[in-house]
Amino acid sequence: MIKAFFQSLFSRRSAAEENDISDMRASLQRHQRIFRSSHGYGYFDWDLKKQKMDWSGGYWKYLGYTDEDVEVISMSSNYFDYVHPEDVSRMQEAIWKLFKAHTLMGEVTYRVRKKNGGYIWTEIRADATRDDQGWVTFVSGIAFDVTKQKQMQQALQLSEERHARILQSSNDGIWEWVLDQDGFHYSSRCWEHLGYTENHEAIAQGVDHMAAWRKRMHPDDLQQFDRILAQHIRKQGPFDVEYRIRGKGDRWFWVRARGQMVFNEKGEPVRMSGSNMDITELKEAEERVIKAKEDAEKASQAKSEFLSSMSHELRTPLNAILGYSQILAMDESLAPVQRDHVAEITRAGDILSRLIKDCLDLARIEAGHLNLIYKTLSPCELIQRCLGMVQNLAAKRNISLVFYPGNFASVSITADQTRLEQVLLNLITNAVKYNRDRGRVNIACAIEADTYFRILVQDTGKGIPQEKQSQIFQPFNRLGEENSKTEGSGVGLVITQRLVQQMGGRIDFSSQEGVGSRFWIDIPLRQEALVSTPVVGQPPEAPEPASNELEIGGRRRILYVEDSPSNQRLMEHLLARFPQLELQLAGDALKGLFYARTEHPDLIIMDINLPGMDGFEALEVLQSDLATAHIPVIALSANAMSHDIEKGLKAGFVSYLTKPLEFGLLIEVFNRVLK
Ligand code: ADP
Repeated sequence: MIKAFFQSLFSRRSAAEENDISDMRASLQRHQRIFRSSHGYGYFDWDLKKQKMDWSGGYWKYLGYTDEDVEVISMSSNYFDYVHPEDVSRMQEAIWKLFKAHTLMGEVTYRVRKKNGGYIWTEIRADATRDDQGWVTFVSGIAFDVTKQKQMQQALQLSEERHARILQSSNDGIWEWVLDQDGFHYSSRCWEHLGYTENHEAIAQGVDHMAAWRKRMHPDDLQQFDRILAQHIRKQGPFDVEYRIRGKGDRWFWVRARGQMVFNEKGEPVRMSGSNMDITELKEAEERVIKAKEDAEKASQAKSEFLSSMSHELRTPLNAILGYSQILAMDESLAPVQRDHVAEITRAGDILSRLIKDCLDLARIEAGHLNLIYKTLSPCELIQRCLGMVQNLAAKRNISLVFYPGNFASVSITADQTRLEQVLLNLITNAVKYNRDRGRVNIACAIEADTYFRILVQDTGKGIPQEKQSQIFQPFNRLGEENSKTEGSGVGLVITQRLVQQMGGRIDFSSQEGVGSRFWIDIPLRQEALVSTPVVGQPPEAPEPASNELEIGGRRRILYVEDSPSNQRLMEHLLARFPQLELQLAGDALKGLFYARTEHPDLIIMDINLPGMDGFEALEVLQSDLATAHIPVIALSANAMSHDIEKGLKAGFVSYLTKPLEFGLLIEVFNRVLK
């Protein structure tokens, strides 16, 4: 078109034509100036007959090409060499469409090669000129660099795709709330959470979406929802709320909604976007866990009650077995073989008694009812004490107990003395029990990482088979020892482990079959973090072995309130040895109260589980009556859990003794109270 225009300049013309031509020339020069200065823009005029493209503007220069290069590019047969191979067919298709359809060629983008390599994105807009038959003669248009826009568009698309992928994979629904238009939009996933697949409008049933949604929310949760939303709008906290909502089939679903309000420059809320997460399964699982925990607590409570009553039932007959064997053991007229038999009965009774105590211990630890009393103590002194207690057992089999205190004799730690002693006794006793005759037990100490005091107990016994080592802390698992002559119940180590853990420590072991085992415990050097709950009065275990010597000279009257005739007889036999003690029996609390008032005993021994009025009630009456308030009352009961003992001492019993009764302990209390 431009060429045709120039050709027409050479024909003859009139003055008026000359003027027109001069105007046109000026206009052309102006356009050419503009074209030349238009960096990155190219104007082309493609003559289809000549197969040549006439380019003006700074487009090709911008791509690094010279005027000579442009000459080559201008040959239309060469043009596609400069187009990215992937875009050639798209370009051709667009040109073909332009030829066929009588429309503009709009917005075709393609990549064009730069002289020094690389491509820029170019957009073309063109129009076709046609001859009388409608054949395209010229295609004229503009080409310009759109690389930046294209890159932005690609980045945007990538980001959108990424967001879509994230939303898709997160299973979250999204929502948007435009305040000034009062519009609320929920993505279809939000409705899917509620079990719907239908069209949103159908679910909303013509009501505004927000209103439709709120109508379904659980009334108990709506208030909290509104409060958190209002706080967020006042910029006082994040919007993160969990609520119940009624879905398809009137089923309740749980949703966690999180969102962020956008404010305008005046600080007014304008738009809020957020996501909904379906947390129904999570909530249901949570509810199941809570229920399971409650069930477990109930079961544990039931177990504790069962253990408590079982222990009570077992202790009562055991009281008679051990009581009478104690009486028999004191009988000097017995033949040696009879003495052996009595010793056997006592030993078996002791084992049974120990087993009951272990079971109760374990139950208490597992129920978290074990109270620890922390105090500063010397672990080395405690070890020495324990060694003394195990010495006899070791001597019987010629096993030597060797303690290496090292430099730690003066170290002190904070622990529960009774419980740490129980732990050490169990480890050292095991090291002796599972040792060979004439074997050795080494006990050593160390400080671990400045934090723990380590006590190591090593033996030269038969060791623990590798395949059984993982079962060592299982309750009642004796790893095959149940058929051996070695006594035990299989709960010592598990109690040991729990006690050590409760003191904030740890326990571990290594063992080699045929060589021996090493058990070690680490007890924290300091215990600031642990709060101990003190037990009123003395702990259940009496540490010192009691003597059977009564240190009372004058006469004393003792009232024993006990409903079991067998226990009454036992007490009669036990006290028959002491002529200075006069025993009176009462079969229930009322009789006991009567005798207390009328006979003025020096001491009352009171059973707790009595028919009608129990021991606690009887004590209260005694304490509130001026005539009896001064009489010391000892509890003697088969209710032997630590909380029973605590309760008894709190109530005002001067001592709380448990069945099976250890005679020496009773005498000790007499000595203390009656002197
Ligand atoms: P118990 O000694 O009453 O059976 P424990 O809980 O103390 O119960 O120990 C559980 C089991 O671990 C024992 O029966 C025994 O088989 C094994 N065991 C414990 N200590 C040792 C040890 N030092 N050497 C070998 N085996 C041991």
